[in-house]
Amino acid sequence: MLTLSLASSSTIRALKAITEAKRKKFALPCSVCKGKGFYICKLCKGNSTIEWSPLYDFVFINPCVCPACEGNRVQRCLNCLGKGYY
Ligand SMILES: [Zn+2]
Ligand SMILES: [Zn+2]
Repeated sequence: MLTLSLASSSTIRALKAITEAKRKKFALPCSVCKGKGFYICKLCKGNSTIEWSPLYDFVFINPCVCPACEGNRVQRCLNCLGKGYY
């Protein structure tokens, strides 16, 4: 009984993997991230930091860790949710 349920669950997993592979094969690559699943952060433009001045005074401009990508320089594509395809 145990072996039977193990076999069936692995079969389901295999079938799911095949379905996913088929979907990927016929899916259109995401046009926003060009199939990568992520793109360069729009806020810091890949610099990982932004120049931010709390006093609007150029003397006090400090590089701050980008709040949008948290210093990762890339953002997960919101169009395809990081998959790279539809
Ligand atoms: Zn950023
Ligand atoms: Zn995308």
